Amino acid sequence: MTTINSSNSIMQLATRFDNLGGWTVEQQFVLQMGSSYLLAHGIGTPITEDPTTKVKVEKAGKYTLWVRTKNWTAFWSEGKTPGIFQVKIDGVADEAEFGIGCQGATRAERAAWYWQKGGVYELAAGEHEIALHDVMGLDGRCDAILLTTADQEPGNTLEDYKKLRAELLPAPVVEKGHYDFVVVGAGISGMCAALAAARLGCKVALVQDRYILGGNNSSEVRVGLGGQINIDPYPALGYLLNEIGPDRIGNARGAHHYQDDKKMNVILAEKNITLFTGYTVTEVEKDGDKIKAVTAVEATKQDKIRISGDLFSDCTGDAHLAAMAGAECRMGREAQAEFGEKLAPKEADGFTMGVSIEWYCEDWNTPCSFPDSLDWGLELDEYTVEPVHRANWYWEVGMRDDQVADAEKIRDYGMYVAYSTFSYCKNRYSKKEDWECTHLTWVSHVSGKRESRRVVGDFILREQDLTRPIIHEDSTCTTTWRIDQHYPDPRNADKYPGEEWMSIGVLTPIDFYPLPYRCFYSKDIPNMFMAGRNISVSHIALGSTRVMRTCGLIGEVVGMAASICAKRNVTPRDIYTTYFEDLKELMRKGTGRTDVPYTQFYHQVDRTGHQAEDR
Ligand SMILES: Cc1cc2nc3c(=O)[nH]c(=O)nc-3n(C[C@H](O)[C@H](O)[C@H](O)COP(=O)(O)OP(=O)(O)OC[C@H]3O[C@@H](n4cnc5c(N)ncnc54)[C@H](O)[C@@H]3O)c2cc1C
Repeated sequence: MTTINSSNSIMQLATRFDNLGGWTVEQQFVLQMGSSYLLAHGIGTPITEDPTTKVKVEKAGKYTLWVRTKNWTAFWSEGKTPGIFQVKIDGVADEAEFGIGCQGATRAERAAWYWQKGGVYELAAGEHEIALHDVMGLDGRCDAILLTTADQEPGNTLEDYKKLRAELLPAPVVEKGHYDFVVVGAGISGMCAALAAARLGCKVALVQDRYILGGNNSSEVRVGLGGQINIDPYPALGYLLNEIGPDRIGNARGAHHYQDDKKMNVILAEKNITLFTGYTVTEVEKDGDKIKAVTAVEATKQDKIRISGDLFSDCTGDAHLAAMAGAECRMGREAQAEFGEKLAPKEADGFTMGVSIEWYCEDWNTPCSFPDSLDWGLELDEYTVEPVHRANWYWEVGMRDDQVADAEKIRDYGMYVAYSTFSYCKNRYSKKEDWECTHLTWVSHVSGKRESRRVVGDFILREQDLTRPIIHEDSTCTTTWRIDQHYPDPRNADKYPGEEWMSIGVLTPIDFYPLPYRCFYSKDIPNMFMAGRNISVSHIALGSTRVMRTCGLIGEVVGMAASICAKRNVTPRDIYTTYFEDLKELMRKGTGRTDVPYTQFYHQVDRTGHQAEDR
């Protein structure tokens, strides 16, 4: 058997095609499946602009075509997936339909990423064209094309794949400099951390895996900001968030509601911030317990960079940086006995609040069709279907899955539910004539996450800190949202046990509560902060602290603390033990501008969490 190597094989990454056509670059699962890939996110309309590329064949020969892909609906259905596509070599479509899934005893095996074999091609030396052709407009996906004269079959494990990439596409790492403070993740928390530190004199690197800033509040996810800012005991905190926060509210609205440009412009105006968009941090280098540098991979070209720093902040929401650095993290629910939390379950488990895939449809004057999902979709009937025009927070999936390992499956289930619902309304609903002119115009392919890993700090905030409340000497910014816990909607759980897709919110009132600074740095990694939903809180306490205005305040405090660490050459913990007065002084001043319009006006829900994340 001849083995695959660089002298007999060509690997072409889909995201590196010369022309990406109408397909979407998908990088959310780089850490799980090893690559960015191209996604045919046509929302039910086949994408007509094919991605195309030229590949150079050095030696003429008989090349076998392999395509790395997956069957994304195989977790829930044995029916023929709508995620199929063709591969064309020099304009001729291979006989295979790609994306149909591999053989396997379990659904997870059949839904795994795998190399699907195509035909054998007699290729002359010189340039040849490869194209991908979408068939259904329903999220077919292609990571890479392999052309090989070897008879070895490429292996399907992540380890096999990484080895193959290293052999066929070695990636040099480009050095991008040293910074006082490296912030990983540019959701609301990361942006505020970077801005505050930069304004207080730090040289900051802000690394964001997507090309758009704002995380859940971006036009990619479309979640409105919740919680309040400019609250005692440090009312100056929050003007910073006001500078980047949209002046509109609501979930799953038009893209313009989320004012991506406003956020980007504020970051770009900050001369001390070097922004790296489209870069996912995938590796960490350590010096003893400290983080020394991170390596990040770009979403489209998939080139690698290295950024070193004195201080780091994990603002990834999922605590990816912390986990890579070996910091203790938690995921799931603590048992009641651990902290004495009344709202906690008797036994600890892996249950988390889930992911929402937001979507909406619009009524136009023109009729349209949508593929019937009968073969591959969720089983729905007149009683289980939710015939609505817009998803909201309670379209929530993946509460029983692993939010990190199963991230792609969770995202896919959110899309699966959305397409199946719309398809039912268009094709089978008793009132389907009302849906004749309804167009499914937007389905997010970016997961709206609420909870995954939480990094353990010197203090873990608990339910009773918020409800009694217990004020600590290292009080900082204030959490204002009620403890808002989500559970599967019992009616939905009855019909879809273990695979629920609707939730309910259960609210427990709290007084406004200043968060202890010790929740904002890792107990294990001496130079790492965290801000956002991955701070050191219990599952129950996260029910309050996760809303984005609160995350922004935490980011602002972390940026301030980083500036003190840089100035005094001390660690985040030293601020608590020795320099807390310095932090208090900065918190009294704030880092935001007060000469720009104040746009963060509150509604009932911001004050009370009245309808759990709703508007
Ligand atoms: C449907 C829904 C409704 C909600 N309702 C509300 C609400 O009404 N109000 C409210 O305030 N909150 C609400 N929340 C909760 C809130 O949106 C989240 O808790 C929020 O994400 C917290 O912000 P964050 O900055 O910690 O994380 P995120 O917003 O997730 O930002 C983290 C960023 O880091 C990036 N990143 C991740 N890993 C890496 C990496 N390895 N390298 C580089 N970058 C990385 C991510 O792409 C992301 O952009 C809701 C959430 C959902 C899903």
